[in-house]
Amino acid sequence: MISLGLTYSEFCKRHDLNDSPKSDARRRYLALLAGQTELPVGELHPVIRHLREGELTKFIQRAPDGLETESVIIPMWRKDSRWTTLCVSSQVGCAMGCTFCETAQLGKLRNLSAAEIVGQLVAARREFDTKIDNVVFMGMGEPFDNFDEVIQTVRVLTDPLGLSMGMSRITISTVGRVEGIRKLASLGWRRINLAVSLNAPNDEIRSQIMPINRVEPMSMLRAALLDYPLRTCQFFMIEYVLIPGVNDAPDHARQVADYLRGIKCCVNVIPYNPRHESPWPAPDEHAVQRFLGQLQEAGQFSKKRETKGRSHMAACGQLGNRTMSRKRPDVIPLGVTKPAPY
Ligand code: SF4
Repeated sequence: MISLGLTYSEFCKRHDLNDSPKSDARRRYLALLAGQTELPVGELHPVIRHLREGELTKFIQRAPDGLETESVIIPMWRKDSRWTTLCVSSQVGCAMGCTFCETAQLGKLRNLSAAEIVGQLVAARREFDTKIDNVVFMGMGEPFDNFDEVIQTVRVLTDPLGLSMGMSRITISTVGRVEGIRKLASLGWRRINLAVSLNAPNDEIRSQIMPINRVEPMSMLRAALLDYPLRTCQFFMIEYVLIPGVNDAPDHARQVADYLRGIKCCVNVIPYNPRHESPWPAPDEHAVQRFLGQLQEAGQFSKKRETKGRSHMAACGQLGNRTMSRKRPDVIPLGVTKPAPY
């Protein structure tokens, strides 16, 4: 059985092949990552469903243990350029318990292996005949709670004898796990992008909607970001899910700008995409533009993230099939989940 999740030299070592760049093994390796092999591939789980909204495609793969991964193919364009981003999951479910997030409703079911994460890209290329330009770890799960497998995935994607994807085309998005941010910094990968979910102007509100903040408050997060060795032209993406009546007051925008002062970043304002049984509605466009304007007035570089896929539960914070956790009574339900410190 061939395994995904290996760099070219690891693949050759595992299968006792000549690892020279010109050997026939390289052709086989590239065919494997393109999903063009007839050989049985472990962890390339079948796509059992897909949903389309406009040009966006969400697809679901089912693993042999019955659990499902969700990934989203997002075509993007600006002026004359077009590119395609794949949003991958790093876990099935998530233990972080963010109250606005559909994935949190599942609890954490399990980590995905590097092979299963790479398998999402292979499935996108094979089943949907899509060239993937960028990969973002913004699907189900907290990537830094599955650090080793996520890092191995990045190694596979960027292997010069494999897909050779530029590190700058990969974004890891974290809830703000401080130890994970510091471990990533220690790898010296200067081109990889880091997105951090802030979502609140102060500790009081952040602790209410993101339990991680009770363990790692905003001051710890700020210190980790200030210590992170950004390149001159690089900046963090700070995600801010705008939830009506929770974090959208004018004073909140000012507090966010104050908190981020001195941190090179762009705030991505993401209109809240309601999860199932959500206590909050989505914000209207006027509220989003008002908050953006307030951030910009306070001197904070900010943009709005366009909403895509909301009607198919494919937008930010909407991934996850709750019936999976009903099949798993051992899963800790939302609200009881306490993020474990490292
Ligand atoms: S927002 Fe991210 S970290 Fe929070 S529960 Fe959802 S998937 Fe997990």
